[in-house]
Amino acid sequence: MNTLYWFTRDLRLHDNAALLAASKSDSLLCVYVVDPRWFTPGRFQSRSMGTHRWRFLWQSLMALERHLRPLGQRLHLAFGVPEQVIPALVRAHGIDHMIRSRQPGTEEAGQWRAIREAVPAILCREFETLSLFTEGSLPMPLDELPATFSQFRKQVEAAGGHHTDALRIRTLSALPPPPGFAQDNRGDCPPISEPAQAPRFTGGERAGLEQLQAFIFDSHRIARYKDTRNALDDWDASSKFSPWLANGSLSVREVAESIAEYERAETRNESTYWLWFELLWREYFYWSALRHGVDLFRRDGVRRKRRPVTFYPHRFKAWCEGTTEYPLVNAAMNQLRQTGYISNRARQLAASCFVNELELDWRYGAAWFEQQLVDYDVGSNYGNWQYLAGVGADPRGQRQFNLEKQAQTYDPDGAFVARWQGEADQPVGRHTVDAADWPLS
Ligand SMILES: Cc1cc2nc3c(=O)[nH]c(=O)nc-3n(C[C@H](O)[C@H](O)[C@H](O)COP(=O)(O)OP(=O)(O)OC[C@H]3O[C@@H](n4cnc5c(N)ncnc54)[C@H](O)[C@@H]3O)c2cc1C
Repeated sequence: MNTLYWFTRDLRLHDNAALLAASKSDSLLCVYVVDPRWFTPGRFQSRSMGTHRWRFLWQSLMALERHLRPLGQRLHLAFGVPEQVIPALVRAHGIDHMIRSRQPGTEEAGQWRAIREAVPAILCREFETLSLFTEGSLPMPLDELPATFSQFRKQVEAAGGHHTDALRIRTLSALPPPPGFAQDNRGDCPPISEPAQAPRFTGGERAGLEQLQAFIFDSHRIARYKDTRNALDDWDASSKFSPWLANGSLSVREVAESIAEYERAETRNESTYWLWFELLWREYFYWSALRHGVDLFRRDGVRRKRRPVTFYPHRFKAWCEGTTEYPLVNAAMNQLRQTGYISNRARQLAASCFVNELELDWRYGAAWFEQQLVDYDVGSNYGNWQYLAGVGADPRGQRQFNLEKQAQTYDPDGAFVARWQGEADQPVGRHTVDAADWPLS
């Protein structure tokens, strides 16, 4: 069998069931496609790929290539539209078998469909490598996925699914050779820009596994996680696994197994449980995205709940640029633009302000996060935005954070606002015109 392996959000050799299946072939073409459409603004004004994630992704791809080389493999890194690139490679190399990881997202599903139609004679298979569970090991059929996270968690835990029941495959030590030499056009990819501040995240499987080792085993920070995780801006307060999990340089099952290992060898407490609990949130949003398809991106959300919203360009701009009347939110948005990462608390506050104070259509905010976040993940991003906007998996409806109270609790001495310059010189008010439509000065 001549296999084409399409790397997507599974940029690793460890615990990769899809690559393991591909390793049984006679020849193997390893492909990653950088899609030019990621770099142009979409319907909600933002690009899918911003500079922080692009840098991190590029580092991850270079690391993947380094790990493939000792196994006699190379990465064919193409810049182009997958619906064209993949069928062309299939034809050029006599491919009869194609594998990739299963993933949520309507564009991803559409591409897979289009490619299969373009090369109907080849065998196409998807494997589940992005999640803790496989669809078959979930305690419910996917079309009966509970409407709320807590129902989902209870059913998973009642079924004995603490940690993961999926088999972990240790790292691969052999791969078949590539079918032949093919020059790729990686040189056409957009350039990588150097950030103003040295980035704290380095892409690649090894860096992800090192972060896992550091957070859980070396520093024991996992044992205090529940008490620290809500901090507004503290590197050590949470695991920082998200960027590696998002592009699959780190397997979520590897994380779950490490938690279990730590609990066996060191201690098991509320904090160790809570890290698993948060992974379960990710899991829920993953399956929810697969279950709800296009509804994940609809204004009325998966709950089909209509809320009157509109679009005020000046408010949106002020939010993105950190020049609103809310210093705490400005600080978060400045940090996001400059680093590509903000804490979960900062994300909640920024999103709550967007929906409640600025009364904007949540989809524009979600699209801006998609562009900016180094750890952007379709299920977690759109799922959390819907949750906060009251159109997603939250039985309590819309969530509004009291920004003043949040500042008193999480930034009592104003250090966060000062560090990220949240006090705008000329804050942009909510209104630009008065009731008679006269411009406000
Ligand atoms: C509006 C909004 C948008 C978000 N967008 C994303 C996104 O695009 N990508 C993303 O990975 N996370 C997203 N999150 C969830 C969460 O903020 C991040 O996963 C977390 O801050 C990452 O930091 P960490 O790895 O240190 O998390 P930790 O607190 O150490 O948690 C461990 C892991 O659990 C998962 N996790 C934690 N909290 C959540 C959550 N609320 N929802 C889903 N998974 C969670 C992540 O995989 C995380 O890496 C979003 C949250 C909000 C409120």
